[in-house]
Amino acid sequence: MSASAGVTLALSKGRIFEESEALLAPLGLLPQADLDDRLLRLPSQADGVDLLVIRPSDVPPYVEHGAADFGIVGKDVLMEHDGTGLFEPLDLQIAQCRMVVAGLPDSGLDRLRRRPRIATKYPAIARAHFGRQGRQVEIIKLYGSMELAPLVGLADAIVDLVATGSTLRANGLIEFETIADISSRLVVNKAAMKTKHAALTHWIERFREVVTAEEPVA
Ligand code: ATP
Ligand code: MG
Repeated sequence: MSASAGVTLALSKGRIFEESEALLAPLGLLPQADLDDRLLRLPSQADGVDLLVIRPSDVPPYVEHGAADFGIVGKDVLMEHDGTGLFEPLDLQIAQCRMVVAGLPDSGLDRLRRRPRIATKYPAIARAHFGRQGRQVEIIKLYGSMELAPLVGLADAIVDLVATGSTLRANGLIEFETIADISSRLVVNKAAMKTKHAALTHWIERFREVVTAEEPVA
């Protein structure tokens, strides 16, 4: 395949897209037109790079199956997806947050019942985490507003993402433990890494340069 083979980049809609813009702009990879909610597939400003703008949790399947050659997605989504079919060459260091176990202060982890109920949007991550601790849990899968669950007795604790912790605090919840530090990653389709090697390594290295340039000096 030639170095000019066209490539398709899958972007995570929402918060990650907003934080991606600072990386995409210097690379000339912003959408050609203003992002229009109705447009799901659009050319970037760079020749030979098309963009897909899709839900974060849809990025791994699109890239794994080669509908997109590479993508930007949160580590939380990758951990939940078990992205074994993907290369993960670069930590983009955007959309940084933590996956935590949280709950009401008086129900500290040690005092949870023998098989506590854990509300989460991330059942695989939660199950693996408590499994490593040898703790049996009952997972309640939710799609949003996990913080509500302990307040109304639906769950003993939650597994959720926090950045500043202000939403937890506002609901009277505290963090019990951190499961993982989360940020967005560049992921690449394994077959495309061979068939479009020149184009993909070019873009991975450009991303690496921008991330390195943006790193705060410690
Ligand atoms: P969907 O609407 O498809 O369910 P979502 O609601 O999870 O997606 P966002 O809220 O935009 O979408 O979050 C997308 C990603 O942003 C998460 O997968 C995570 O990697 C990251 N993220 C989530 N919360 C925070 C936060 N508080 N600070 C920084 N990054 C975050
Ligand atoms: Mg959402």
